Amino acid sequence: MKKQLEDRVFMYSRWLRKRYGTKVFRVGLSTGITCPHRIETGGCIYCNPRTFTGEYQDAGLSIARQMARAIPRIKASCGDVKLLAYFQDETSTAGPISYLRKCFLDALVHPDVVGLVVSTRPDAVRSDVLEMLKSLKIPVTIELGLQSIHDKSLTYLNRGHSFAQVQDAVARCGKAGMEVGVHLIIGIPGETETMMRETVEWVGNNPWITQVKFHNLVIYKDTKLARMAEAGEVMAFGIQDYVPLLARLLTYLPGTMPVLRLFTSNVRREQIALGEYPGNKTKWMSLLRNEMNEKNVVQGQQTAVPFTKEDTC
Ligand code: SF4
Repeated sequence: MKKQLEDRVFMYSRWLRKRYGTKVFRVGLSTGITCPHRIETGGCIYCNPRTFTGEYQDAGLSIARQMARAIPRIKASCGDVKLLAYFQDETSTAGPISYLRKCFLDALVHPDVVGLVVSTRPDAVRSDVLEMLKSLKIPVTIELGLQSIHDKSLTYLNRGHSFAQVQDAVARCGKAGMEVGVHLIIGIPGETETMMRETVEWVGNNPWITQVKFHNLVIYKDTKLARMAEAGEVMAFGIQDYVPLLARLLTYLPGTMPVLRLFTSNVRREQIALGEYPGNKTKWMSLLRNEMNEKNVVQGQQTAVPFTKEDTC
């Protein structure tokens, strides 16, 4: 029988329903702080900040104004959902502690906000920020850009941090009582499938990591990666390459770990420098569903805990 993707992958929406007992949606917010790594070094070679600034976000607006803009739209399309205040863009822990605290508290005053999600870099997880987040007495998730466990790849991407720094940041966030999510990039030039699998396995075996986002490497305009691709140094990694690879990699991620994202989202055609991404996210999800159906695999199949719907709902 043809199964849905939700029958084969532990989707984050399912985890949220279990955790909060109701439908929960993320409201994307911006502290307005520019990523220090971009200021200091020009940033990661794939980074184009225009690609991750959502339509609700506007660094020029106060948190209250950003929420006043975003929440009615979310409720109009999703109904009376609860919310996670999601500080999504740039490096959301890179500012003065008093400013960060004010941003987070301003988001928490909304009665429907049930938790906080803060996205940042492993080298920007300061102890004072963790202490402040703990003091808010609300569920907090820290999302860290991991991308790969291989230092060679981190250097190639100009991430500006090592794998050792990732390990340290993950452990400190976990010990501070935060949920820890990590972002992975699949398709980093020079990485073999074995290297990608090692990254997925490390994530699955880490005691502090509770959720994961997969991104296919997209070559955006106005990035160093685009200039390298134009010079013939990098090949584009299309959706047709990505889907079967992702299906295989998912089998090495324990079936109990929720997956927040399976594809780089918000890919707008006019922002892509190179590569074929026909269709949209719905189409890509159905390609992945078909691939997993055809191969008859589930998340975690190669681990001790394959995904089953019964265990996770
Ligand atoms: S850490 Fe994030 S925001 Fe900063 S340069 Fe890298 S991708 Fe861009």
